[in-house]
Amino acid sequence: MSDTADTADTADTAAGEPLLQAHGLTKTFRVPRSASGSTRLHALDGVDLTVRRGETLGLVGESGCGKSTLARVLLMLERPDAGTVRYDGVDPFALRGKPLLAWRRRVQMVFQDPFASLNPRLSAGELIAEPWRSHPDLVPRPERERRVHELLEMVGLRPGDARRHPQEFSGGQRQRIGIARALALNPEVIVCDEPVSALDLSVQAQVLNVLTDLQAELGVAYVFISHDLPVVRHVADRVAVMYLGRMVESGPAEEVFTAPRHPYTASLLSAAPRPPAERGDGRERRIVLSGEVPSPTDPPSGCRFRTRCWKAEEVCADRLPADEPAPDAPQHLAACHLPLEPAGGGARR
Ligand code: SF4
Repeated sequence: MSDTADTADTADTAAGEPLLQAHGLTKTFRVPRSASGSTRLHALDGVDLTVRRGETLGLVGESGCGKSTLARVLLMLERPDAGTVRYDGVDPFALRGKPLLAWRRRVQMVFQDPFASLNPRLSAGELIAEPWRSHPDLVPRPERERRVHELLEMVGLRPGDARRHPQEFSGGQRQRIGIARALALNPEVIVCDEPVSALDLSVQAQVLNVLTDLQAELGVAYVFISHDLPVVRHVADRVAVMYLGRMVESGPAEEVFTAPRHPYTASLLSAAPRPPAERGDGRERRIVLSGEVPSPTDPPSGCRFRTRCWKAEEVCADRLPADEPAPDAPQHLAACHLPLEPAGGGARR
């Protein structure tokens, strides 16, 4: 994770080797349309994504944009209709038996709701030790109590908390237990699905600090899903923006946040609070999008954003825009026929 003041250069050096790579992921779901018929909901449409060792990749976009479906595919909870996933060069969907079990250990999840994600009948110690039932060789039985205490301390709780039950903890403490449980299997990637959105602001900062410290200590990579742009800016080395099942912009976080190239990213950023150093005289233009988000059962032709984009031209309806790198920042990609100029359009006009 990077501090707010980190630069794009810092983000680049923080990023390691590609670990988890997805290419051309497509996923549709059959949903009822009327009493007699059904239709297809296009949750993912040709999505590419790379997660590097030890980095935090922020994944942002409005509700229904496909973030959670993408997370479920990366966790192998959903099989894509098309496209590939490679983890350390291996297709996890082709694994069976012990290799599959070993793979599952390497990618874990922290859930949004710490109240719903912990079984109230188990103590914190039992919750943290639970994953070892499927992976009994990872921690020998005589060492488990000591390891539970160690994990509790790593997330800022006390060894004595192992005996307490979830309902005896605050929301932030419960999320710390969820993080300790994810860490119990020594994962290399943790998918954090809105991990602080259910918490009070002051508690959010504490939980984010826990995640930051653990990453520095363990080198774990995070896929950090959130609709809260200031939080993503605070934690992410790189950021990826989704709209209606497609990836529309990605790149080093500071680069994307300070010089968005896709009109959708610019509109999101224009509505988000900014750091004091970037606040102007209050006359910066807020981009208010017209129109509703189109239905994912009937997405627009060409660019998915064209029905709400103030820059749309005929070409936008005719052709799907491909990812194009920024002229001076090759890792900063935007899928737009008419990308914004760094000093011109968008959130900072
Ligand atoms: Fe707007 Fe066209 Fe770019 Fe889509 S491709 S974001 S409609 S300018």
